[in-house]
Amino acid sequence: MSAAETLVAVQDIDLLIEEASDRDHLREARRCGLALPTTAVASLQAERDRLTVGIDRRWLELYERCRARYGRGLTAVRDRTCLGCQTRLPTSSAPPAGIALLQACESCGRLLLWV
Ligand SMILES: [Zn+2]
Repeated sequence: MSAAETLVAVQDIDLLIEEASDRDHLREARRCGLALPTTAVASLQAERDRLTVGIDRRWLELYERCRARYGRGLTAVRDRTCLGCQTRLPTSSAPPAGIALLQACESCGRLLLWV
């Protein structure tokens, strides 16, 4: 799994943990019988820990910084445009087709996921 794919998985896990920890969401989920048991949250955290071991520290720190600042660690790029700040990225920064690439947006600093 590439660093980009791993960070996508980490972000999914972070969102699940965040949802499970949100009091309003938890109350509603319990009312509907859909709340994750606390053991599931611990399992998610363990899987997150396992995944992050293999990620280059530079990408992980940038991911954490973006998550703290923007609520999400990764931002997608569509048509060479950062979907976080809508800045058009230079042609030279685009990866070859079919290759997922991580890069920091030069305008907003978000961690970009080229897909
Ligand atoms: Zn940006």
